[in-house]
Amino acid sequence: MKPILLWLRRDLRLADNPALAHALRTGQPVIPVYIHAPEEEAPWSPGAASRWWLHHSLAAFSRALEAAGSRLILRRGASLETLLRLVDETGAGQVLWNRVYEPALIERDRRIKAALKDRGLAAESFNSALLFEPWTVSNKSGEPYRVFTPFWKACCATGLPDDVETTPESITAPTCWPDGDHLEFFDLLPRIPWDQGMAACWQPGEDGAHRALEHFLAGAVLTYKTDRDLPGQPGTSRMSPHLHFGEIGPRQLIRACRRLQAQGAGAAAGASLEAFMREIGWREFAFHLLFHFPHTPEQPLDERFADFPWRDARDYAADLEAWRRGRTGIPLVDAGMRELWHTGWMHNRVRMIVASLLVKNLRIPWQTGARWFWDTLVDADLASNTLGWQWTAGCGADAAPYFRVFNPVLQGERFDGRGEYIRRWVPELKPLPDRYLQAPWTAPAGLVPREYPRPRVDLGESRKAALAAWEQLKGAS
Ligand code: FAD
Repeated sequence: MKPILLWLRRDLRLADNPALAHALRTGQPVIPVYIHAPEEEAPWSPGAASRWWLHHSLAAFSRALEAAGSRLILRRGASLETLLRLVDETGAGQVLWNRVYEPALIERDRRIKAALKDRGLAAESFNSALLFEPWTVSNKSGEPYRVFTPFWKACCATGLPDDVETTPESITAPTCWPDGDHLEFFDLLPRIPWDQGMAACWQPGEDGAHRALEHFLAGAVLTYKTDRDLPGQPGTSRMSPHLHFGEIGPRQLIRACRRLQAQGAGAAAGASLEAFMREIGWREFAFHLLFHFPHTPEQPLDERFADFPWRDARDYAADLEAWRRGRTGIPLVDAGMRELWHTGWMHNRVRMIVASLLVKNLRIPWQTGARWFWDTLVDADLASNTLGWQWTAGCGADAAPYFRVFNPVLQGERFDGRGEYIRRWVPELKPLPDRYLQAPWTAPAGLVPREYPRPRVDLGESRKAALAAWEQLKGAS
């Protein structure tokens, strides 16, 4: 029997993997392959933190396949040429994969599918990453949604899918395996070891995804609706990098929520489960937007913002560097940026606050912030990152109005009132009394340690300047 090539990409899991399940149903031997071709993802090839995750995720998936009697064949090179070479080497008659949705990769996969079919090979793709394919959801006029609430209402009205493929215990191996590269050859790990912080907080791979999910379901999910906004508490699932690399899929999360609902979770817990599923909905919405508006990683969806009067790059270089390093002198922002640098992740509310400071108070283009997140987040995801930055900048779909500028001091008082988050990530401010913690520049002289910087920007004045820039833009359009 001819083997099947199973081309793995962002679906590094055995459970609920539609392409794998389909291959197994044929009864033919399966050859799982991962092809490292970062240049094909340009200009959005994975950043440093994502590469770190990918290395460990591939290692974990390799072990899981071996436990199921299979292997992960690693290759480096152009995807189509590598697949064709593998077809020649193994005699495979078909290639199966699960879809990815970045514009450059959609185009690449389309070309590959056509080229394989031209050569008489069967090629089929599946949905492992989303609840709904982006082209299947549209409003009454047949247009894509631009606002989240009606989008999610339409999804919920259809019914959220929670059917999952079963996890195979064994995978039929071919009589002869092709050669593969060593993972180290991909050169994914950092040369300077800055990754200890990430290694201490994450377990990449399918097992890690399920451990994190079980931990969340056993506690935080029940109070998610209220605690998800508190950066000092472990109130969210931390599923984002696992979802990005496909170590777990959204249908599995919906199924887990439904199971808890069926067990009779109380009213508060029920509301929390709904709130959690709604966040999965935001992820779906991000993919929907990226699919229908593929220019948005670089260009604002709201075209008026194409001419926004950003500051000149030479003028903001020092502010940008202070923002990146967590040295703006604004404690909640610095805490967030240091959490990001240390762990590869940042709490959602703090992401909005640091992004707002960069874009509105410092008037640095949102694309510059998005790039830094791209390099430093372990969950860097083109759809969600684009949505998050455009939303904060006020130039995307469903945007927060431009005049809504986050005030990091008020946000800190509201969501980190006891300063747990700030004290964890900005330890030099630990001794400062609560009443000065959010705005140390208001403390009496001598109280703030010298090593902590003065604020780089006056929050009130810069807010006014941002609003004036917006007025100028409105006047011009
Ligand atoms: P939970 O609160 O437990 O939510 C569960 C899941 O829902 C998340 O894992 C995620 O997949 C999804 N989700 C939650 N909130 C959002 C949201 N606002 N948009 C899209 N999906 C959401 N998320 C990424 O996955 N990758 C990114 O690159 C990314 N960049 C962002 C940039 C900015 C400026 C902002 C404001 C947000 C960004 N987000 C991004 C969204 C959000 O911050 C993260 O998904 C969330 O913090 C992940 O933590 P969690 O898994 O504990 O989330």
